Amino acid sequence: MAGAAGLAAVGKAGASPSRVRTSTSDHRVIVVGSGFGGAIAALRLTQAGVPVLLLERGRAWRTGPNADTFPDPASPDKRALWHRGDPQLFGRPVAFDPYVGLIDAVVGDGMTAVTAAGLGGGSLIYQGMSLQPKEEIFNECLPESLDWPTMNRVHYPRVAKMLGLQTAPDSLVRRPEYRAARIFADRARKAALPISKIPMPIDWSYAQAEIDGRMKPSYTDGSGALGVNNGGKHSVDTTYIRKAFATGLLTVATLHEVLDVERLSDGKWGLDVVQTDVNGTTVARKKLVTPSLIMAAGSVHTTRLLMRARANSARDLPDEIGSGWGTNADRIYVWSNPELDFGVKQGGPVVFGSLNWDSPRTAHTVIQASIPPFGVNVHSTMMVGYGVSESRGRFRYDASTGDARLIWPASGDTRIQWRHIHPTALKIAGPGSVLTDSNRFVDTTWHPLGGAAMGAVCDLSGRVHGQQGLYVIDGALIPGTAAACNPSMTIAAIAERALDDIVANDVGVTI
Ligand SMILES: Cc1cc2nc3c(=O)[nH]c(=O)nc-3n(C[C@H](O)[C@H](O)[C@H](O)COP(=O)(O)OP(=O)(O)OC[C@H]3O[C@@H](n4cnc5c(N)ncnc54)[C@H](O)[C@@H]3O)c2cc1C
Repeated sequence: MAGAAGLAAVGKAGASPSRVRTSTSDHRVIVVGSGFGGAIAALRLTQAGVPVLLLERGRAWRTGPNADTFPDPASPDKRALWHRGDPQLFGRPVAFDPYVGLIDAVVGDGMTAVTAAGLGGGSLIYQGMSLQPKEEIFNECLPESLDWPTMNRVHYPRVAKMLGLQTAPDSLVRRPEYRAARIFADRARKAALPISKIPMPIDWSYAQAEIDGRMKPSYTDGSGALGVNNGGKHSVDTTYIRKAFATGLLTVATLHEVLDVERLSDGKWGLDVVQTDVNGTTVARKKLVTPSLIMAAGSVHTTRLLMRARANSARDLPDEIGSGWGTNADRIYVWSNPELDFGVKQGGPVVFGSLNWDSPRTAHTVIQASIPPFGVNVHSTMMVGYGVSESRGRFRYDASTGDARLIWPASGDTRIQWRHIHPTALKIAGPGSVLTDSNRFVDTTWHPLGGAAMGAVCDLSGRVHGQQGLYVIDGALIPGTAAACNPSMTIAAIAERALDDIVANDVGVTI
C-alpha cells in the first residue's frame, strides 16, 4: 500500500495487433464502469425491467475461500498494476509485464489520484471502511436538498444492508493477531479522543475460520490489502452486480475500455470502445450507440472522458466539468515505534477509528489499518486520516494530448491536515513514535471526488444539465469531500437515491 502510494502512470496505449475487427451495435442503456455507482445503476435499472450493458475496462477477480486471484501486497506482481502507463515507484520504473491490474495511479500537477480497475471497481481493493456522515457535517459539505433525514432513513441503511456491514466481534479483537488494533484504541482513549468500531463489508466469520486453521490467512495477517483472496468481503461484484445479473437483463463486458464518448447527430451517445486481453493487447474495436449513457468510471476517468467529449462532439457540455475536484484530505501514515509490538502478522483490515466530528470546520477521522506481513517485526502499523477539505483542484484539457490533466493547488488541504488530522494522529501515536506521512514522498489521494459535481454539472440525481440521456453516477458527482468520511458509503447512498428518482421519472421517458 505504502509503495503503491508512490506509483506514477501516464497514458500509453496497449500494443495492437495489425488486424483488429470493428463492430457496431445499439443498446438501450450503457453503464461505463462497475464500481459503486455503476453497480448500483445496473441493479436498480435491471430490477425496473431495463436491459443494461455494463462496460468495465478491468477483468473479473474471483475470490475464495483459499483463492490466489489477488496479488500478495508484501511481494506484488503484474496483477497489481493497470497496463496503460509507465508505472514508477519513487521515480524508478516498475518492471512488471503489462497486465489489466488493479491499481491505476493518475499523475497530475501536484497530486496523484489512485483509482481502481476491475469488475467491482474500488470495492475490490478498498479496505472497506464504511462511514455515514453526521447530519450537520453532511449539510455543510453537500447540498442540503439531498435531504439527509430521508437518506439516513432509506438510502444509507439500504447500502449497509446490501454490503452486509458489520464491525469486528470482540472475540476476534481479543486475539493476538489484533494487537495493533487494541494498541491504537488504548492510545486514543488515553489521549481522550473518541474511539469506535468501524463498520466493514465483511463476514468476520471468515477471519475466525482462518484462526481455526480452516482457511488460508487473508484477513488475520494483513495480506488482503490488494484484494481479499478468502471471500467473505462483500465487494459490489459479489452483491449488487451478482443481483443485477440474476435479473437476466444485465450484460457485463469486462476488458472493454471506453476511449471516447461522442454525441451523434441524432442526439444519441456513441462510444469508441477497445476490447483487450488480460495483457492489455487490443483484440477488437467497437462502436456502441445508446440513447441513455450512465458515466460511472469514477471521479477521474468520468471527468476526463467528458472533457474530451466537450472538446470534440459535445461542445455544449457544462463549462464546469473538470472543476470542483477534491482529495477528501486523504492521508496514509506509517506509525513506527521500537517500543511497541504491533505484531509481524497484523489482523485487519480495520477495527477501530477515531471520529472527531464535533464541528463541520474541523471534522476529521483517523483509523488504524493493518500492514502486509513482511516476515520480520518492523514495529510499524498504518494510520489513515481524512477530513473536510476546502481546497478544490481542476482538470485542464490539453488539445495536444487529447486528455485532461489534474491541477492541484500547492497548499491544498493544509489547514485540515496540519491543524487537525496530523495533531490527532500524533496524539494517538504518543511519545517515542515516528509518523511517516506517505504524502511527503508523493502527494496522493485514494479518495478522488468531484469533476462533474451535483449543482454545477448535474442535478442531484446525476442528470447532466441540458444533456438528454447523459448521467453521472459515481464519485465525480460528489463535490470534493465526503464530509469527514471515506467516500464509498456516500457515493453508494447518493447513487441509490438517484436511481430511485431515475427509475420513477426517467424510465420510459429518456431511458
Ligand atoms: C486502495 C484503496 C483503498 C480504499 N479504501 C476505502 C475505504 O476503506 N473506504 C471507502 O469508503 N473508500 C475507500 N477507497 C475509495 C473508494 O474505493 C472509491 O471512493 C470508490 O470506489 C469510488 O467509487 P466509484 O463508483 O466512483 O468508482 P470506482 O469504484 O473507481 O469504479 C470505477 C470503475 O470504472 C472503470 N473504468 C474507468 N475508466 C473506464 C473506461 N474508460 N472504460 C471502462 N471502464 C472504466 C474502472 O476500472 C472502475 O472499475 C479506497 C480506494 C483505494 C484505491
